[in-house]
Amino acid sequence: MKIGIIGTGYVGLTLGICLSHCGHQVICTDKDQEKIRSLINGNLPMHEPKLLEMLASNNVSFSTHIHEAVQKSEIIFITVGTPQSENGSCDLSHLKKVVEEIANSINGYKIIVIKSTVPPKTANSIKSSLKKLTKQPFDIISNPEFLRQGSAVYDFFHPDRIIIGSDNIEASKVIGKLYERITNNILYTDNTSAELIKYASNSFLATKISFINEIANLSEKIGATIKDVEIGMGLDQRIGKDFLSSGLGYGGSCFPKDIRALIQVGKESFCDMSIAEATDKTNTMQRQLFLNKIYSKFNSNLLGVTISIWGLSFKPDTDDIREAPSITIIKELLSKGVKIVAYDPKVKKSSHEVLNKIKLVQDKYNALVGADALLVLTEWDEFRAPDFSKIKVPIIFDGRRIYNKEEIRRLGIEYIS
Ligand code: NAD
Repeated sequence: MKIGIIGTGYVGLTLGICLSHCGHQVICTDKDQEKIRSLINGNLPMHEPKLLEMLASNNVSFSTHIHEAVQKSEIIFITVGTPQSENGSCDLSHLKKVVEEIANSINGYKIIVIKSTVPPKTANSIKSSLKKLTKQPFDIISNPEFLRQGSAVYDFFHPDRIIIGSDNIEASKVIGKLYERITNNILYTDNTSAELIKYASNSFLATKISFINEIANLSEKIGATIKDVEIGMGLDQRIGKDFLSSGLGYGGSCFPKDIRALIQVGKESFCDMSIAEATDKTNTMQRQLFLNKIYSKFNSNLLGVTISIWGLSFKPDTDDIREAPSITIIKELLSKGVKIVAYDPKVKKSSHEVLNKIKLVQDKYNALVGADALLVLTEWDEFRAPDFSKIKVPIIFDGRRIYNKEEIRRLGIEYIS
């Protein structure tokens, strides 16, 4: 099929390249000229495993001309960002802009698929506004995305399920056909339910993380071994082991904003959202608890202390630092007069202004020179089994609990996780 994609970020680019791999004619568009230029030159604007080789071996077109993509395509996927606005609700301004652009370009029947994460009832309201802007026929499908950064290509070809929401089953089936060879687990539903499935799923996973963090904090107080508690709970198939690792909590461009948007939707609908609120609160607190451990060790006197950080991205296998715990922690430590030297396998200095205030080095052992402590903030594989003989810091604060406490202590290094 002829497919246009509007918004060529983590989601849009993965979708475009993978659909092209399935044999469709895909044109990926974005308003960011730099990004499109880089893609035309065969470079990925972000780090995502497997995507670069897929880009090289597939025939996707890239353009900043959204008008052209709308006119040439039978199906238009909208994959623009839906960030958090100031009051925590979902900011739909990019999506609304795209809808206006579609209205100005539409030249016949189109299936418009909202893949961006949007609050329940957004598709219905977009449908009404688009009807006022154009006489051309269209259907609006809600097809939320569930990929994980770091394994986005794998996730495209091995989804647990595909959710397709609309009020026109014929249009839904056209979109279902795109996924037919990938999975049989396709749930057809209405737009609002599809939208809520996405928020409910992300909020449930975030809740699992906050729950195990709460149990970890209790475990620490009463002298239980949280690792064993996690394993023991995870062995229960009704619970499952995923998202049951205590630590610094979740970050990234999805969980934090999606749970806050869900809370806002609840407020607007006069519905109590205590569980979602507690999940968000526990997650925020978890970063502070980690900082408190550092403050307590240095008797709250951090002026002139040098701290080395391993890991800046919000999780391994991505260069994304949106809402990463590292950013909160760096800002706090800088405000206390700490000097920071950091290493991350993929994060670039330009990705956040706060990184201009620290030293970013290319070698993890170089980051340790002269450091009074090492903080592990992202569980990249390369940090799991380092050459411990090269780690000369007096203390490690391990925000991801990747080391064995006894082993580190045998090396004469104090270990706080
Ligand atoms: P992103 O920020 O990486 O990409 C969004 C792209 O949209 C940007 O390149 C931006 O320039 C472009 N854009 C914005 N306005 C535009 C316009 N008017 N015209 C053309 N292009 C425009 O975002 P992302 O991480 O790919 O996320 C996209 C959506 O998918 C969000 O709603 C997000 O919540 C959701 N989602 C993301 C993930 C993830 O892991 N990143 C997973 C599931 C769902």
